Amino acid sequence: MDNARFVDQLQRGSEALGLRLGEGVAPGLQRLMGELLKWNAKVNLTAITAPEEVLEKHFLDSLAVLPEVEGAASLLDLGAGAGFPGLPLKLARPALTVTLVDAVGKKVGFLKATIAALGLKDARGLHLRAEGQPEREGIPRAELLIARAFMDLPDWLALAPAYVQPGGRVVAMLGKAQPDSELAVRASERGLRVVSSRQYRLPFSGAERQVAVFSQA
Ligand code: SAM
Repeated sequence: MDNARFVDQLQRGSEALGLRLGEGVAPGLQRLMGELLKWNAKVNLTAITAPEEVLEKHFLDSLAVLPEVEGAASLLDLGAGAGFPGLPLKLARPALTVTLVDAVGKKVGFLKATIAALGLKDARGLHLRAEGQPEREGIPRAELLIARAFMDLPDWLALAPAYVQPGGRVVAMLGKAQPDSELAVRASERGLRVVSSRQYRLPFSGAERQVAVFSQA
């Protein structure tokens, strides 16, 4: 995919999602694509390797939750893998402090090298396993907890609140839409409440998505 097509697709896709991206975002994402595909030839980071698909299924899918991230100072991405959604969110909102945690060393090797290659400040990759005890594990709490393709909703709502700073929020990225009544039941099981819930589609494939935000009740 050449530069002009990448910029055009990113613009069309982000507009369809109702997002406003700053000018520096496209070059940052292009460098991220370069690092991802370069590393993926040696280390198995992602099964999605066609640039058009990386743009939609990794980049735009990550950026789609920007409205839920706005206003937060710090973000913790658990089970970040190759950095999704945390790295695109950091590129789109450079002032955000982002911590990416993964239990697999080679993935964190990629995260650390890419953070350095892209010159990202206030971003770090940690090779740690999240099991609900942040102090013991050495995982810093954040204002906003996020994960993609990490756990099902009940397990995520059981784990994530331990890592949230007082007054913070837990974001759930859901592939399959769940009715608000189901979200409310899942939240109350963990002493949480639903702050917001939103369904949308990815711009080119039309794949369905839902994002829900939870806070302490
Ligand atoms: N979030 C990325 C994405 O959407 O592309 C990666 C998703 S991948 C399916 C799940 C990731 O969670 C893997 O990289 C795995 O190593 C990591 N993982 C699984 N259990 C973990 C744990 N307890 N603590 C930290 N990372 C974990």
